[in-house]
Amino acid sequence: MELHKVELLAQLCENCPKMCRHVCTTHSVTRSEADTPMERSSIAYRALLRGRFLPEEIPYMYKKCSACGLCLQWCETEIDVSEIMLAARADAALAGAAPAEAVQVMENMVREGNPHGDKRESKFNGIAAETEHLPETAEVLYFAGCDTLLHQPEIALSAIKIFRAAGVDFTMLKDNEPCCGEPQRQMGFIEDFKSAAQNVVEQIRLSRAQRVVYTCPTCLRMAKEIYPRYGADLPAGVETLHMSEYLLELIKTKKLVLNQNINKRVTYHDPCDLGRRLKIYEPPRQVLTAVPGIELKEMFFNRQDARCCGAGGGLAFTNSKLVLQASNNVLKLAEKVDAQLFVTSCPTCKNSFCSHTKNMDGMETLDLTEIVAASL
Ligand code: SF4
Ligand code: SF4
Repeated sequence: MELHKVELLAQLCENCPKMCRHVCTTHSVTRSEADTPMERSSIAYRALLRGRFLPEEIPYMYKKCSACGLCLQWCETEIDVSEIMLAARADAALAGAAPAEAVQVMENMVREGNPHGDKRESKFNGIAAETEHLPETAEVLYFAGCDTLLHQPEIALSAIKIFRAAGVDFTMLKDNEPCCGEPQRQMGFIEDFKSAAQNVVEQIRLSRAQRVVYTCPTCLRMAKEIYPRYGADLPAGVETLHMSEYLLELIKTKKLVLNQNINKRVTYHDPCDLGRRLKIYEPPRQVLTAVPGIELKEMFFNRQDARCCGAGGGLAFTNSKLVLQASNNVLKLAEKVDAQLFVTSCPTCKNSFCSHTKNMDGMETLDLTEIVAASL
């Protein structure tokens, strides 16, 4: 079983007096003692000893962990419960016990090449007018990701506007950008994930880009940290950057000049993959404060302690109700600092928060890239 690889972690966590439960995204929503990191580790450990999962245990592995890493941040013994969940899901998937939602994600991936099941040929529709004349190869490859292209194309349009304003030699994997594979990994289909990782690496190699810029922190984390664990490394010398890092560079080198005032009180939400996982906390804040007129107010929980929108770990597919509640809890923190603009730098987070702020007076959610494009 994959769980054997994390046996010690699960065993240690199972014996802990749930010291981290107050930070857990799921527990903070349900307040149930059955929804703590320790309970999930304990279920996984018992399944390991038994050699199989009971049907009623499967939802605890798939639907209760957003892979936010908050427990790891808190845990004295540095146990990452989301890694235990990944191993449990891999075992469940291999045993044919993955829940219907996970199987649906996999069917979408096979049929349409994205986890949402949107038509494969529609992926670039939202930005079609801007990608018609992109070159085959360029110094910079902009990897937009499924969530941006299918649900938040305005982020990609803003990125393109910025690249053009700064005179960047860039291209995209037009009509051919694969999914980063994280949905397959989170749903436990590891062999499919490995193929996806190899394909992404190959497409990047073919683009001959020296730098790959991402607006999605999850796609970036895959390339930077996760693919190498599965034997898929980017070509030597290829640099990967989050858009916030690249924007900061463009601003510092004066290739990008921000002129338009955005007179708003803004708070910034650290996406889990960008913050706790990749430790990119300051570049988005430095970019925000370079925008004329912006007043940045920090929420009570920020940087490594930032709360999760709930949509990670595949919960956007398996437990949308929890995502709604978790993201609403974060917005309450933003209201406490009287924010008028809620800024994040992840398309998945933006989706979660927009489901609330689209109906709220006096609060709007935008991606960092959109704010910068608006201030050009
Ligand atoms: S993750 Fe760490 S702190 Fe949380 S229950 Fe497990 S061992 Fe305890
Ligand atoms: S990774 Fe997040 S959601 Fe998962 S058990 Fe830890 S704190 Fe809870």
